[in-house]
Amino acid sequence: MIMVSACLVGINCKYNGENNHCPPICTFLASHPHFLVCPETMGRLPIPRLPAEIKGGDGNDVLDGRARVINSQGDDVTDEYVHGAYSCWELARLNQVSLAIFKSHSPSCGCDEVYDGSFSRRLTPGDGVTAALLRRNGVRLITEKDFQQYGYNNK
Ligand code: SF4
Repeated sequence: MIMVSACLVGINCKYNGENNHCPPICTFLASHPHFLVCPETMGRLPIPRLPAEIKGGDGNDVLDGRARVINSQGDDVTDEYVHGAYSCWELARLNQVSLAIFKSHSPSCGCDEVYDGSFSRRLTPGDGVTAALLRRNGVRLITEKDFQQYGYNNK
């Protein structure tokens, strides 16, 4: 079973009410069992919402209490992000998810690199909060960039 960031298949759950539609992923999912998640809305954040970034580390640091998720207005939204992450992990566990296809760079879904907390589009190594929790529990993570650059079958 595959878990997928809902915005990648055209669901308008992105912070600005838009999506990150990725046609190659939709084509792939047509023949693979999957379900959609949006950790930020599952953490009870609204659509639209202010953009947020991790300050002081990555998702692992957030889970361990060393970093916080702060929105562009300076509000601390860490609790919502952590709640969304654990909600996704519970679904992953119940559905025996082995692979997640996630949106790159997101403070929730980003894998391997995320925005650095400066709101200047700078990236830093690390996972988003949900990605970090899933990776800790053995779920393989890839992003839409893996499809666009290599194609899933080559990974
Ligand atoms: Fe939701 Fe993740 Fe897409 Fe952000 S990147 S809108 S949290 S599914």
